[in-house]
Amino acid sequence: MKGKAAIFIKAGKPMEIVEYPLPKVQPGAMLVKVKRANICGSDVHMVQGGFSWGGPELPHIIGHEMVGEVYELGAGLTSDSTGQPLKVGDRVTYCYFRPCGRCYACLHGQSHACAETLARLGMTSAEPPHFLGAFAEYYYIYPDQVVYKVPDELSDELVAPANCALSQVLYGLHEVHVETGDTVVLQGAGGLGINAIAVAREMGAGMVIVVEQHPERIKLAKAFGADYIVDINEFPTPRERTGQVRRLTQGRGADVVAELTGIPQVAREGIGMVRMGGRYLWIGNINPGKMVEIDPSAVILGNRTIVGTGRYAPWALYRALDFLKRTKDKYPFESVLSHSFKLEDINAAFEMAVKGKVTRASIVP
Ligand SMILES: [Zn+2]
Ligand SMILES: [Zn+2]
Repeated sequence: MKGKAAIFIKAGKPMEIVEYPLPKVQPGAMLVKVKRANICGSDVHMVQGGFSWGGPELPHIIGHEMVGEVYELGAGLTSDSTGQPLKVGDRVTYCYFRPCGRCYACLHGQSHACAETLARLGMTSAEPPHFLGAFAEYYYIYPDQVVYKVPDELSDELVAPANCALSQVLYGLHEVHVETGDTVVLQGAGGLGINAIAVAREMGAGMVIVVEQHPERIKLAKAFGADYIVDINEFPTPRERTGQVRRLTQGRGADVVAELTGIPQVAREGIGMVRMGGRYLWIGNINPGKMVEIDPSAVILGNRTIVGTGRYAPWALYRALDFLKRTKDKYPFESVLSHSFKLEDINAAFEMAVKGKVTRASIVP
């Protein structure tokens, strides 16, 4: 038996479809059939050359935001991470990263900050178990990965963003303590921002303001119930946008501002939108070496807090499933996925995603 995979060779080069033999599933591990894999902003950064694992550039399968179906269970594995029984054919979602459990951060209960986690993702697909990324027909889940069974009432479209975008904003907004009545500004309404509207609202945000420029994304942000849009076409300078947020908040600024764009320059403007004593959350800017100039006194004298969150604690994914179950009829989650592509058409899918016109392009192998 063989399975297809899209191989990322290097930035700027089209991905190639190859076939690998299905791996032998070790005890406690699992092989899943990928049902749907979304193109996340970080995949786009990678294909464009802005982001690397920090290790050798070996051809490998990228992609991590996905949902799968159990194809084979390794010996001894009979349930998901919460003890729910698992059988072949069950749909599962999983943390795409593998904390080591023994580094200093892991020992302090911060597995999302594990120093080894990127290295443990697998740098090459040339060797078994081959299938270590989402853009393939199969995905190999190691015994130490967190796996949750997907509730039947959640469609593939709905649940595919759970293990990256949704869990990421759920965890990030938790880390900056969004509270009842908070005004929350979201910089960017891509995959992260759209999910963040719903999460902030459900956490009790009194007002949600979205800063965005693409008309399709603005439309979607409105459909998700954003109270105000600061349209970059209408407010073209950072000063005007900051001014607009201040106008909407009686001159104070927002309690929480979240950077969900991946554009370093927005940090300066974002901090300018935070009220005295408020919180600024960094999630989108994952590209090493990209700089931005900020005025530290605005943070110090303003008693503002800056928090960065990359990846999430495993509970966030479990709660993301619960979140979707409770709110799926309240928000138009399904309309976030604007375009689906076959695995063979992955390069065309990336072209669309790079242009930023689609909120989430999706591969259905
Ligand atoms: Zn992602
Ligand atoms: Zn660790």
